[in-house]
Amino acid sequence: MEIIGEFCRIVTKVTTRHTLGLTTLRTIRQREEWKTVGDNKVAPGSPSAAAAPPAALALEQVPGAGRPGRARPPRHLADLDAAGRRAAVTELGQPGFRADQLSRHYFGRLTDDPAEMTDLPAAQRAELGTALLPRLLTAERELTCDQGTTRKTLWRAFDGSYVESVLMRYPDRITMCVSSQAGCGMACPFCATGQAGLTRNLSTGEIVSQVFAGAADLARGQVPGGPGRVSNVVFMGMGEPLANYASVLAAVRRITDPAPDGLGISQRSVTVSTVGLVPAIRRLAAEQLSVRLAVSLHAPDDELRDELVPVNRRWKVAEVLDAAWDYAAATGRRVSIEYAMIRDVNDHAWRAEALADLLAGRLAHVNLIPLNPTPGSRWTASDPDVAREFTERIAARGVPVTVRDTRGTEIDGACGQLAGAQAAGG
Ligand code: SAH
Repeated sequence: MEIIGEFCRIVTKVTTRHTLGLTTLRTIRQREEWKTVGDNKVAPGSPSAAAAPPAALALEQVPGAGRPGRARPPRHLADLDAAGRRAAVTELGQPGFRADQLSRHYFGRLTDDPAEMTDLPAAQRAELGTALLPRLLTAERELTCDQGTTRKTLWRAFDGSYVESVLMRYPDRITMCVSSQAGCGMACPFCATGQAGLTRNLSTGEIVSQVFAGAADLARGQVPGGPGRVSNVVFMGMGEPLANYASVLAAVRRITDPAPDGLGISQRSVTVSTVGLVPAIRRLAAEQLSVRLAVSLHAPDDELRDELVPVNRRWKVAEVLDAAWDYAAATGRRVSIEYAMIRDVNDHAWRAEALADLLAGRLAHVNLIPLNPTPGSRWTASDPDVAREFTERIAARGVPVTVRDTRGTEIDGACGQLAGAQAAGG
């Protein structure tokens, strides 16, 4: 699998007055593309719309509701492994096999609506649904392009946090790009999510819910192109997945375990993207998974990387790549090296050569991404000719390299505007 094009960039916060002007202009231009549907702003008939929030979990009754970051999300079936699901059901005074029934509905049939679970005794459906299938994320807005085959969703969590996911349908695959945190604490200056700071980690259930929503809509034929399945998942939405290790790892298992324990997506088709948290990369390498690792390098030299990816001040380029090569050795998977091309910042010929020096002969693939300028940023994408030369220099050294396509570029900006507007209380 090439991860070219499978990527989402998220702008979360608008901070300067100048930026607000720009945002307003773009909002007006792209407003028509927004689809705000229904009362809950969810596509009618979508699973998220079908399951109204159980009364017991009405937001005002959840401790910390409306105050992002102050409370834990409600427990969900997808948080639990098989033993945990059985224990949860038993605690409710129900026979353990009800956990398997629920799991088959959720992971196998892609329904979270207790009313459809007719093999459960009618009297117990609501109780089981309330206890184990609370609606964790409510689709607030949707933005589509490419005739509906690229779809961004802005989700509101139980505490008012916002996260985004993207579904991308290609002729040969369907990718869900998911968020692992609300906000991000890594502070990369070219990434607007990084500018907004970290609100909180998402729970496993909240991460899995993003994939579930796409999978369920695809299964019901609600995405143009007919019924389909999610084939790939990339952790390239909001957040640093390896800074939320336990929840992300459990989510990877739920996403990849075969039904009824999980959504049955191949581990090889899951990509975890990181700024380069070395101990966590090493820990992931020891998990005996075959997920792909993507490392957001963005510069071959420590001097520039210290600025572009501030965590580099803690773990230098050499240490990050050492861990990456150990990951490749442990898993047999080619590591994807992400490199956002920023005009006159990291796109010099000598940096292409330096990058090739680091990667030649390694189990690596370079994914060049034209910078998506964030509102108010002083940086912009590399000139196409410069980007071409950069690509050719790397390829000439025998290092596999692809340039991300521009699919969905239009909605990248608008998506961020929406989250920014929501964050500002708009
Ligand atoms: N925190 C993780 C995953 C989230 S971002 C990581 O850093 O890898 C996914 C990718 O998008 C990363 O490579 C990130 O550096 C890149 N990215 C973020 N903002 C961008 C922008 N404005 N333009 C281009 N790439 C961007």
